[in-house]
Amino acid sequence: MSIQKIGWIGLGNMGNPMVKNLVKAGFEVTVYNRTKAKAEALQKEVNIEVANSITELLIDSDAIITMLTDDNALTEVYTGDQGILANLTDKKFLAIDMSTVSPETTKKLSRSAADKGISYIDAPVSGSVKPAEDAQLIIMAGGEKADFEAAQPIFGALGKLSLHLGANGAGNNAKLAINLFLAITIQGLSEALVFAQDNGIDPTKFLDIVNNGAVGSGITKIKSPMILNDDFKAAFALKLLAKDLRLAAAAGMKHPAGIAVAESFDQAETAGLGDLDMMAIIKHLGYQN
Ligand code: NAP
Repeated sequence: MSIQKIGWIGLGNMGNPMVKNLVKAGFEVTVYNRTKAKAEALQKEVNIEVANSITELLIDSDAIITMLTDDNALTEVYTGDQGILANLTDKKFLAIDMSTVSPETTKKLSRSAADKGISYIDAPVSGSVKPAEDAQLIIMAGGEKADFEAAQPIFGALGKLSLHLGANGAGNNAKLAINLFLAITIQGLSEALVFAQDNGIDPTKFLDIVNNGAVGSGITKIKSPMILNDDFKAAFALKLLAKDLRLAAAAGMKHPAGIAVAESFDQAETAGLGDLDMMAIIKHLGYQN
């Protein structure tokens, strides 16, 4: 299957830069977003068509890509009255979901799609807004190998690495594992910095120690300015990482750090920090700017 026309659903923090990269790579992209104003704003910047409904996307797309908040949003977009499965046309397409959702939801939706002759792959991404803008995402895929191969031109336009990991749900499981590691790292950085601050160490100097040493990493370097500038505008919202930890728990996460970190992120979300960046966990833990 050669893919040229893409129907894209979901223009949030991630969907927006990803669509720009597909256009840059020469794909013809039509977008649908629940809040249409976001699609119209993007249309002013790049050459895309804006659809009024999901049905409109199905008429002529070779692939339908979803980049949505969570399991509920994805399920609604697939199984709702106005959704994909209820409005199929004769046109066959490859369904690619890039949201972070549970492997269970993927298995359910991929089975329903297969019943109607539609191939489906889960292909969640690692990397936040900056890697999305720079086409440097890492794509973790589950589904038929042939479908993964067919999606290579798309993945090549969005990321620096894509891996086929197994049957449907394998991409989701890999994504939950990497976000478990991310959450423990962010929590660890926050606890260490608050401990240092409580004991009289200057945060700027402490972050210099972290970032010049072996425990420093891409994520500690990216998030250091956010901490020092007290600017926690969401690149990756805290509530989304809390969601991913709940999904990991449902998928069998059982070790102490993960369980404690999941609780910490849940508490921070309940305390009202959910719409800030995940790094705002440090505020919840008592960091004073
Ligand atoms: P976001 O900014 O919250 O955008 C979510 C998108 O989903 C919006 O387009 C929203 O539409 C749409 N949506 C939500 N509920 C819907 C529903 N019921 N029906 C139709 N559309 C619905 O999220 P994001 O940061 O782009 O993340 C998208 C996915 O990627 C999430 O699963 C997240 O966990 C994952 N992810 C995020 C990052 C990151 O750094 N941000 C990194 C890797 C993976 P409206 O515009 O109408 O609200």
